[in-house]
Amino acid sequence: EALYHVPAWGAGFFHVNEAGHVAVRPLGPEGPSIDLLEVIERLRAQHVHPPVLLRFQDLLRTRVQQLNRAFRRAIAETGYANTYRGVYPIKVNQLREVVEEILEAGAPFSFGLECGSKSELLATLPYLDRDDMLLICNGCKDRAMMQLILAGQRLGKKVIPVIERMAEFRLLLEALEDRSLPQAGVPAIFGVRLRLSATGAGLWSESGGETSKFGLSLSELLGLLDRIGDGHSGVSLQLLHFHMGSQIAHLAHIREAVTEAARIYARLRKRGLGITYLDIGGGLGVTYEAGNPDAPGSIDYSLGEYAHTVVATVQQVCEAEGVPPPVLISESGRALTAYHSVFVTEVLDTRSRHYELPAWANGGIHPLLEELRRLYDAAASEPLSATYEQLEAVRQQVNRSFREGALSLEQKAEAEQLYWATCARLCERLPRSSEALETLPENLRQLPTRLADHYLCNFSVFRSLIDHWAIGQHFPIMPIHRLDEPPTRHGILIDLTCDSDGQVSDFVTPVGEKHTLELHPLRPDEPYYLGFFLMGAYQDIMGDQHNLFGRVTEAHVYLDEDEPGNFYIELILPGATVEKELAQVQYYPNDLERRMNRLIQEKVRTGALRPREGVELLELYRRVFRTSTYLEH
Ligand code: PLP
Repeated sequence: EALYHVPAWGAGFFHVNEAGHVAVRPLGPEGPSIDLLEVIERLRAQHVHPPVLLRFQDLLRTRVQQLNRAFRRAIAETGYANTYRGVYPIKVNQLREVVEEILEAGAPFSFGLECGSKSELLATLPYLDRDDMLLICNGCKDRAMMQLILAGQRLGKKVIPVIERMAEFRLLLEALEDRSLPQAGVPAIFGVRLRLSATGAGLWSESGGETSKFGLSLSELLGLLDRIGDGHSGVSLQLLHFHMGSQIAHLAHIREAVTEAARIYARLRKRGLGITYLDIGGGLGVTYEAGNPDAPGSIDYSLGEYAHTVVATVQQVCEAEGVPPPVLISESGRALTAYHSVFVTEVLDTRSRHYELPAWANGGIHPLLEELRRLYDAAASEPLSATYEQLEAVRQQVNRSFREGALSLEQKAEAEQLYWATCARLCERLPRSSEALETLPENLRQLPTRLADHYLCNFSVFRSLIDHWAIGQHFPIMPIHRLDEPPTRHGILIDLTCDSDGQVSDFVTPVGEKHTLELHPLRPDEPYYLGFFLMGAYQDIMGDQHNLFGRVTEAHVYLDEDEPGNFYIELILPGATVEKELAQVQYYPNDLERRMNRLIQEKVRTGALRPREGVELLELYRRVFRTSTYLEH
């Protein structure tokens, strides 16, 4: 557990059990636990093999409850004179089952939704089955979207368009003219997104701040208020919104932004505007790293501290300004969904370098080989940097001599082996602390990665771990079994794509950088599974189809209420087939089969292929359309 820093990122949901397997506690640290290997074995019995995405729906419910209870507690502790009404931004994970689970768990808290596009509006509007539920509509809008939002209001629902640009305000007024959608005499309600001065820090901080893509500046807001000032425009500003970006690292930044927004709210209230809601957006962070305060994306606060800071800050500003506090809204997505899904894949193969010394002078004595041999001995005790520099210089001479024809194949092979054996010796002597490592040349520091075993895994980084590739996000990754056995290898993970970026060589660590993962050697005829954790936010939907690897199979796992400690798998969503992925880029089986058959028939005609072989060949081609895009057993 400690080796893979489970307590730091697991938030009480993950642990290693007595069997040496990773287990999940969907209800939190005190609740029953589900053994991940048992889930995989049960799936295999149903002929479902990794790669597979496991969703723990109970965990999703737990997160919804934890978030709402944290705000309720903060409101009770501070005596805040209004309520909290969270909304779930579906962009984080739009899967219907995820959204429905969140809404069901959120019903006692009047939890609502947020949408950021026309498609998301269509998906969310019919879910407003209670009139008190909020649907916050962010993102760029066109006329049809605005009309639909107003139609939602006509239905008596709290569907609030958030104006992100002045042009959208004009669109709102135009949409109002189109039809008398809201009831006569009842103004259409709307919100505005503020462009605050306060910014966050971290991988997503550009979503907030003065230069962000989104929101109205203060002067634009005042201009807008002048236009609706006469009270006859048919619209009513009800909500102020800001979003600083996802994964805000520091509580101090959140406090600053909330203070600024609360001040704007209060000053507008004092001007007589009846604004009801203050929506603080998303940004509530998740600890992916192993408690490393310097890692990008690492956060310095808990859920409870977040809620308390937001509530207390708004309260203080409102008290100081003498205005009633607003209904508080947050749009936490990552914090609700990240924990609930675990991606499990199988290691298909490993490749290790051989670091043993070659049998001496098999290919005949050569001065360069003798020099390498001397450096191998020196590597045990001589200064690291100097020895490594000499080693690289001799290696270049070896390569040059080989190109010029002065070395035999055997001698070149021997030189390579000596080089790697010497690197391995130097690597063993590398300092552990990151400060000491910093003083060494880059190439030397990278030795652990260069020497690491390659673990070929059945997955695509671009499909399942997009933020790792795109923004260098580290995800917790570890074997889900054999944890009662010390891992003796250091590996990096290689995916199936033909792309050198399709690998994982950065891992969570409490200090500095970590470029290899502790892993076990493969055993013959025994699968070795790796779990990728905290995969529930953004990864599913943003993953792409590089090399046409498609969605992986999903299994939705529930705790069995009748039998504590047991679980059941309610839903298996099959992963994409080759046929489905090809259709995305306009290749269809009929057309492809016809072309393939033409190639086959040409050979049959010339007698190069027997007709029966031709039929078998075409059948094989057809069969592969129906297989998974990942490697099958
Ligand atoms: N609200 C808005 C407007 C967003 O753009 C986002 C995503 O960045 C969110 C909410 C969700 O943020 P998070 O996942 O950090 O909670």
